[in-house]
Formats: sequence, structure tokens, C-alpha cells
Amino acid sequence: MTITTYQERLWSFAQGKRLRRFRGMLRTPRDTSCDACGSSLPNHLFGLRDMETKQDYFVGANCMSRLSQMLVLERPFVKADIFTAYSLARNIPQKLKLPHQADLNSGERQPGRNGHADDAGA
Ligand SMILES: [Zn+2]
Repeated sequence: MTITTYQERLWSFAQGKRLRRFRGMLRTPRDTSCDACGSSLPNHLFGLRDMETKQDYFVGANCMSRLSQMLVLERPFVKADIFTAYSLARNIPQKLKLPHQADLNSGERQPGRNGHADDAGA
């Protein structure tokens, strides 16, 4: 019997990768799934880039916080736009846009925050 637990799935997802986070998140894009655990319809998607392969992954909030707790995420953030990355990764034309992301963006525009993520996790 091959029953993989949630935790095992996350480990195998993270294995061999050097994952960094994107800033911000995506709100419930349609027809998507979590790249880490395979769950469909996550409420939010967070972006992760494997610095080895430059491949981008998108995971649900639950997986994101678990991965963070597992200490498999590198401290610096990815300097790329999560929306652009998502569109590329999932082959979505830019125009076919995700519902209402503007308010999330505006929160990220504050000056003076330079990649220090000491508030992460907790
Ligand atoms: Zn997941």
C-alpha cells in the first residue's frame, strides 16, 4: 500500500529544490491546483521558485506555511512578479486576468522593506 501522508508529499515536493518565495499571493485563480500536495481549489496561491532549475511552483496557503515550518524555504524573496510568473507557468495569457488582484499589489509597494523576512513563520 502506498499511502502518502500530507507531510510526505510536502517533503518529496521540497526535496532537492532551493525554494524561494514570491512576494504577494494570488487569489483563487480558477482551474488550478497546489503544486505541492495536488489539492485542487486552494483559496490562495503562493509562489515558489526553485533557484536550481528556475522553475516556478504555486502552492496553497496551508502548504506554504507548512513548508515554511519545515525550513525548506530560503530567506530572500524572488525578485519577480508573481502574476507574471503564474501566467507563464500555467500558460495563461496575460489578458485573461485573474480576478481582482490590485488591492494585494498595493500593499507590496511600501518603500524601505528590503527582503527582510523576520516576521515570517512565527
Ligand atoms: Zn497544497
